[in-house]
Amino acid sequence: MQGRKENSPIMKNTFLKRSFGDLVYYTIPSFEKSGMVKHGFSSRLGGVSTGEYFSLNLGFKRNDSPEKVKENFIRFCKALDIQPEQTVFSDQIHKNKVVAVNEKHKGMGFARQSEIQGTDGLVTDCPGVALVTYYADCVPLFFLDPVHKAIGLSHSGWRGTVAKIGQKTFKAMQNHYGTKPEDCLVGIGPSIGPCCFEVDSPVANEFIDTWPEYGDRIVRSSGKAKFTVDLWEANRIQLEELGVPNNNIITAALCTSCNTDIFFSHRKEKGRTGSMAAVLMLV
Ligand SMILES: [Zn+2]
Repeated sequence: MQGRKENSPIMKNTFLKRSFGDLVYYTIPSFEKSGMVKHGFSSRLGGVSTGEYFSLNLGFKRNDSPEKVKENFIRFCKALDIQPEQTVFSDQIHKNKVVAVNEKHKGMGFARQSEIQGTDGLVTDCPGVALVTYYADCVPLFFLDPVHKAIGLSHSGWRGTVAKIGQKTFKAMQNHYGTKPEDCLVGIGPSIGPCCFEVDSPVANEFIDTWPEYGDRIVRSSGKAKFTVDLWEANRIQLEELGVPNNNIITAALCTSCNTDIFFSHRKEKGRTGSMAAVLMLV
């Protein structure tokens, strides 16, 4: 671990803030403790981009200078002690396709053209293959099965949450690697919180229709035909539905929209913003 530890060991119920020089990122205590992975969720701090992309914009698909994004990506990889050539990028379309990747996918997205298309979730059991997904309010889901030594990473925006990409990611790990719910550790990363994710009734109804029995845990009226949706809770519930123990799931409870000094937020910054990344690799 190269990062400086800033949180006390007692704070186990949230993600940990780490820094590497002026670069700030977040990690999951149970994942760190396993000693099996290198991982992190980036902030906007510690990069070279300017303006709306200030400063650690990792979004290669945005209009930022490609050289700056590349430099930012190299910096984040260095903070996590991985090689950029080890990474495999998702190709996110707000759906629920999950793909198993291996050695032959290394470098796809960063170093060479990718054959991975329309994919919001990645799983692997290959050490040295670093999964990468991208965010600016949507929910990052990190999975670790320490028994079968397998990992998963998925991008769960509101559409992906309703499409239960969290369950699909777990099931991909179950099918490919034999992962059991009771062994699976999950981190729900920084993303737009129930404080800020306000929607109209059609979107609210998608959640109520998907989880009629849990509607009041996920959707609340915020007046004037508006509702707030708790994406963190909806993702937790869908994993509990599979039998993942509550204690195995940790939520960062960090709202990207409330904290644009630290994070990029698509909604708060009205689309004029950069991208953060989640990275997860078996060592
Ligand atoms: Zn908020």
